[in-house]
Amino acid sequence: MSFVRSLKCIDCGKEYPPDDLISACTDCGQKGLGFGLLDAAYDYGKIGEQVNRNTLENRKPSVWKYKEFLPVSDESKIVSLDEGGTPLVKCQALADEIGIKNLRVKNETVNPTFSFKDRAFSVIISRASERGASAVAAVSDGNAGASASAYSARAGIACYIFTPEFAVQSKIIQMSMCGARVFSVKGSLIATGMLVIDACAKYGWSNITTAKLLNPYQTEGHKTLAYEICEQMNWQVPDWVIAPVSSGDSLGAIWKGFKEFHILGLIKSLPRMVGTQGEGAAPVVMAFEGNKQFHEIEEFEPATIADALCIGRVLGPWPLNAIKESNGHAVAVSDNEILEAQKSLAAKEGVFVEPSSATTIAGLKKLLGKRVITSNESVVCVTTGSGLKVLEAASKVYAKPVLIEPDMGELEKVLSR
Ligand SMILES: [Zn+2]
Repeated sequence: MSFVRSLKCIDCGKEYPPDDLISACTDCGQKGLGFGLLDAAYDYGKIGEQVNRNTLENRKPSVWKYKEFLPVSDESKIVSLDEGGTPLVKCQALADEIGIKNLRVKNETVNPTFSFKDRAFSVIISRASERGASAVAAVSDGNAGASASAYSARAGIACYIFTPEFAVQSKIIQMSMCGARVFSVKGSLIATGMLVIDACAKYGWSNITTAKLLNPYQTEGHKTLAYEICEQMNWQVPDWVIAPVSSGDSLGAIWKGFKEFHILGLIKSLPRMVGTQGEGAAPVVMAFEGNKQFHEIEEFEPATIADALCIGRVLGPWPLNAIKESNGHAVAVSDNEILEAQKSLAAKEGVFVEPSSATTIAGLKKLLGKRVITSNESVVCVTTGSGLKVLEAASKVYAKPVLIEPDMGELEKVLSR
């Protein structure tokens, strides 16, 4: 059974029945613009009767061990590839290099389709399956589309993915191999989003784009990342959690996860949240630094090597609320800083992440330099996707192999250079 009590407007607080198929508050919302976003509110009293530290510790690591916190009623409809339960890796060598004592990486690259989006799509496709959907559609620049394709394939649901022209080839191949029909659309992600809204209305597809402004439940799966960090740190929380921000819905969802565990008394304190973006595609950072509301940042043409974060507008107040409520921060990093961080994390710790994930390490370095974060504080960086998904970026900086004959003399000559 589901413990969702209502869908609650994050601006005016008005509540709607949990099964209302609306995407924004009818009083203060404006469809597709990010006003009047709705959030799933749960009956935490009832959840508390079912769940405590002990019950959770005795369940197998998985997104679905937290089923009481998720919006799916019929467990027989759960579509899973064993997502979640990812390692929290202590990174001492990298910590020493950048001058911090306590650094961990939440390694989401080991999820079934190699990104954290599997947490969201296991929940989204389970809900779609519960409601009898026969076809789904999403806007995605890569990871979400790949994950949506895989879970739709598993559920036997037709899947249509709309990508921007800049989407990287490896992610498109992954979508296509998992049976999705993929469209490459000219223009901005926002314009593509409008096309998908119209197409869904015309063809009866379910819009499963992972944006809160389209469906309040889309990012609920991401909360489980916070729950796992709490458990893996033995019910403590780090001082800071740093995560990459595109639409920012995942940053907001991770923050929601910590708050929910805090409401239930499972943890005693809360972390401060940091959102990282690439310079040239940093609308959330611009709003944070300029102390502006999300809608005051005018849409612009984004450009960054972090392909999964290439966004030129803030899609709602969700990420900024998480940063403000947690007394957190937002920081933008350059392409060079991203590539350098990507290389450091792989070379020092053996964790090869995509550029968008490397923004967290680059951002941490910057915030240590500015003394926003201090060397004694504990930090968890969320690395959301595998480096193998975007080889185009790493191919700019890797050391190419030296071609030699199978001969010791030649090897010695090369080694002595
Ligand atoms: Zn409202």
